[in-house]
Amino acid sequence: MSMTCLNGCAVPMKQMKVERIFRRNGEPIVIRDLAMNVCPECGQESMPLKSARMVEGILNGKFKPIGQFTAVMYRAA
Ligand SMILES: [Zn+2]
Repeated sequence: MSMTCLNGCAVPMKQMKVERIFRRNGEPIVIRDLAMNVCPECGQESMPLKSARMVEGILNGKFKPIGQFTAVMYRAA
């Protein structure tokens, strides 16, 4: 299935595996290897339904974590 970009770009979106930070009960959690559709032209992302279900499952505590993540944090302003 080929998705088209919401911004009307001519090129089809590419599926990529990304790393994203979400919040669960106010605590940041990292999800690796999350499949996302990304527009190669403008960078617009859309989350496939399968990924949305996976994120929902993780946020609901249905999966075991694979490790811990810590990072130095900065404010851009
Ligand atoms: Zn686009």
